[in-house]
Amino acid sequence: MSSKVEATFLGGAEEIGSLGLYLRLGELRLLFEYGITPSKPPAYPMHAPPMDSVFLTHVHLDHSGMLPRISSEYDVNIYATQPTLDVLPLLLYDTIKVADLEGFPIPFTKEEVENLMENTIPIDYGKSIELGSIEVVPHNAGHIPGSAMYQIKDDRSILFTGDIQSVNTHLVWGTKPIKTDVLIMETTYAGREHPKRDEVEKQFLEKIEEVVGRGGKAIVPAFAVGRTQEIMLVLATQEYDLWVDGMGRFVTNLFLQNPAYLRSAKKLKKARNKIKTVRKRSDRRKALKGEVIIATSGMLEGGPVLHYINHLKNDPKSAILLTGYQVEGTNGRLLMDRGILELYGIKEKIDCEVNFFDFSAHAGHSELVEFAEKSDPEKIILMHGDNREVLAEDLKNRDFEVVIPKNGESFSI
Ligand SMILES: [Zn+2]
Repeated sequence: MSSKVEATFLGGAEEIGSLGLYLRLGELRLLFEYGITPSKPPAYPMHAPPMDSVFLTHVHLDHSGMLPRISSEYDVNIYATQPTLDVLPLLLYDTIKVADLEGFPIPFTKEEVENLMENTIPIDYGKSIELGSIEVVPHNAGHIPGSAMYQIKDDRSILFTGDIQSVNTHLVWGTKPIKTDVLIMETTYAGREHPKRDEVEKQFLEKIEEVVGRGGKAIVPAFAVGRTQEIMLVLATQEYDLWVDGMGRFVTNLFLQNPAYLRSAKKLKKARNKIKTVRKRSDRRKALKGEVIIATSGMLEGGPVLHYINHLKNDPKSAILLTGYQVEGTNGRLLMDRGILELYGIKEKIDCEVNFFDFSAHAGHSELVEFAEKSDPEKIILMHGDNREVLAEDLKNRDFEVVIPKNGESFSI
């Protein structure tokens, strides 16, 4: 096998969204991810040329959201871990629903999702996939349950990280660096550091104590996949009247079907059994009488969380405790910056206290640098971030060869 590899990002090199990396290793053509940017309107990656196999690192839509288009055009195997495959249809059907609600063109049909799922093959960490003379080995990426990095081995090793987190969270063990010749690394948090996780947790719990103590409710918006479960694990040790609502409930059950991918399935099961679940509309009234409500969506772009906020918006004793990064242009960002929210089409002032807690599932700047140093590559390719130059500088100062490719531009590695 020739060691020359041609690479092209079909999207997601320069931004967080619509990721797709097309690799040509001699005769073999591989696609890594094929995502969507859930903006308004949604953004898509470039059209993918024919490929032999597709690898998906994890289920988040910026990595997976356009895969149905691949399987409707090409008869090709799509590899991912079982937790990823279990959650994938849920997110894809939701994408159709959201596009419909917001009046944007439907990017694919339900039949195309079904067709995609028929072409998937489950893989496991550490178990290599043979493709001719090439081997692809999945490794734990530490981002969410089932998240994988892929190591492509011919006469060299290329590591594609997807999204990574090296710090241990309650939900999953952090990732470990892998010795490699070429490192293709995400850069979501390039130039930014996270506060220490135990400090964030302490402050989060203190704030909840304060809010509940003054007679308010704590509303905790959380992403369905990963964050809801992490917050459940943080809160399950506390003696509050706790509720969970939204898509996160289903995802918790799907994750529990794959206990090997969790740091402690026992603890997650305990948390699920302790935290009350909103199953029907009338449960929402009961949840509003409780003390803490975890609900989707994480950026307040829809979902049951808006129902709760709508009820409590005039109550200064209550608080909205954001647990994830709020992207520019989202409702959650509007709340953070200006104290207003769009609720059912109307912009309203929110009297609740608003706080942000950094429960990120991505490695921060220093952790990315450490990961790169320990992987000890000859060449680093930075992707999936809008601030890559800062990290590139830092890595070049440590004598690494660093590439920051543009979308659509072919380069050899
Ligand atoms: Zn992700």
